[in-house]
Amino acid sequence: MGADFEEVYENLKQAREQALFGKYDTSVVYYQGFLQQMQKLMNVIRDPEKKNEYQKLRSKVSSEYEQVKDIQKTLSCLTSESRFSRQQPDYGSQFDDYSRQEEPTRDPDVWPPPTPVENRPSPNIRGNVPRAAPKKSESSSRYRSKPSNNSPANYGQQRGSRPGDRGSRGQQAKKKPEEGDEKKFDPQGHDKDLVENLERDIVQKNPNVHWSDIADLVEAKKLLQEAVVLPLIIPDFFKGIRRPWKGVLMVGPPGTGKTLLAKGVATECGTTFFNISSAALTSKWHGESEKLVRLLFEMARFYAPSTIFIDEIDSICSKRGSSSEHEASRRVKSELLIQMDGVAGACEVEDSTKIVMVLAATNFPWDLDEALRRRLEKRIYIPLPTEKGREELLKINLKEVPLAPDVDLAAVAATLDGYSGADITNVCRDAAMMSFRRRIRGLSPEEIRNIPKEEWSLPTSMEDFLEAKEKVNKSVSADDLKKYKEWMSEFGSV
Ligand code: ADP
Repeated sequence: MGADFEEVYENLKQAREQALFGKYDTSVVYYQGFLQQMQKLMNVIRDPEKKNEYQKLRSKVSSEYEQVKDIQKTLSCLTSESRFSRQQPDYGSQFDDYSRQEEPTRDPDVWPPPTPVENRPSPNIRGNVPRAAPKKSESSSRYRSKPSNNSPANYGQQRGSRPGDRGSRGQQAKKKPEEGDEKKFDPQGHDKDLVENLERDIVQKNPNVHWSDIADLVEAKKLLQEAVVLPLIIPDFFKGIRRPWKGVLMVGPPGTGKTLLAKGVATECGTTFFNISSAALTSKWHGESEKLVRLLFEMARFYAPSTIFIDEIDSICSKRGSSSEHEASRRVKSELLIQMDGVAGACEVEDSTKIVMVLAATNFPWDLDEALRRRLEKRIYIPLPTEKGREELLKINLKEVPLAPDVDLAAVAATLDGYSGADITNVCRDAAMMSFRRRIRGLSPEEIRNIPKEEWSLPTSMEDFLEAKEKVNKSVSADDLKKYKEWMSEFGSV
């Protein structure tokens, strides 16, 4: 319980720190996170003294939060006033709508908390013009969006008819979305480049990996089916005690098919797939990671039902307070925790079209931050392939490769004990190249170019497989396997 409180308290520290720096928008998000989590903590605490203590702290922080919100409100009024006196004719009558709304001051570097799409106003003004704050009654339901209308088609219509829309967007609102119309996330109010990058590199509308493309892993598929796919198909069943898991963590050696499984889940449920690796988060998006996490979840909510897959989650969520933990990574982690709590709220929403599922994978579960581990409630092990699985993997990999009559895939599979799926793919790739390598040995580039196409695909023989196997080493050691086993017996949930 101590660790729980420490983690919750972290939000309060951040809330106060952000307020002191004048970043009220961010501060308010942390305050909300703190109050929400504190409430949860109090619900499970038995010790009356402790409960009382927490209660006092909560009400003190609650009034602090109100004060910060007041400052935020005052500043937003000042902003509207000054904007009013600047009179930007371009905004026309729409501008009046804005000056009437509650608007927080915005630090251009800090994004506002994500609001449900249907509640989110859409200022048709880019740049530093502040966005309208959610109404008081809406703020607490920030993550628990209860749609007024469940139809996905209406989802788009609501977006189109938000206050502040003008011109073509206004007309869009009247236009009924047609079959085949693709929903497109509106980058307004966000960093347009970041949205574009995310759409390009991270959103996959259809990853096109079916269960049948994934060898073996019967147990994992069954568990994912139950943990992720079914709640999307029959949300009504997954209520109360049967509520869906907040998140699912796939643990196992590298190259065992964790990413494939995530893609399989997205394909099988027809959800939008957000594929993000933590390494990319920390390097490619350096400095933007926090924003990216927030945007990622906001987009996932927009494109819901969605699956967010966070690969190598250990690299972003290593243990808190460890020496390798930088300030930036700590902030990203906190943001991820807040967003995941938001997703948990969304899981309770009845409408399956709004569900966002978080799937994560790690090869190093022992490095995982405890707070995050707890949020990834379902933890499943993705093992090395069994003998039958290895044979299936060979068949999948060699679908288009002509084989010599002497090839016995079951016998090849028997020799590959301890090889991961990725290792086996490498063996196949190498074996499939052998005959061609032999064919071109000693030839000049010109002679190689002149080889007729029919000779490109000479059959792969049993000997080719054995030779390839000698070249490709197992990437997982017995010691590693022991470590996974130990971790799973302590923290696994299967
Ligand atoms: P992980 O995410 O566990 O590191 P991946 O899902 O990225 O592993 O798998 C790497 C590659 O290995 C895949 O692209 C695929 O070629 C192969 N592979 C691994 N496991 C399987 C499997 N069960 N079925 C089919 N291919 C697999």
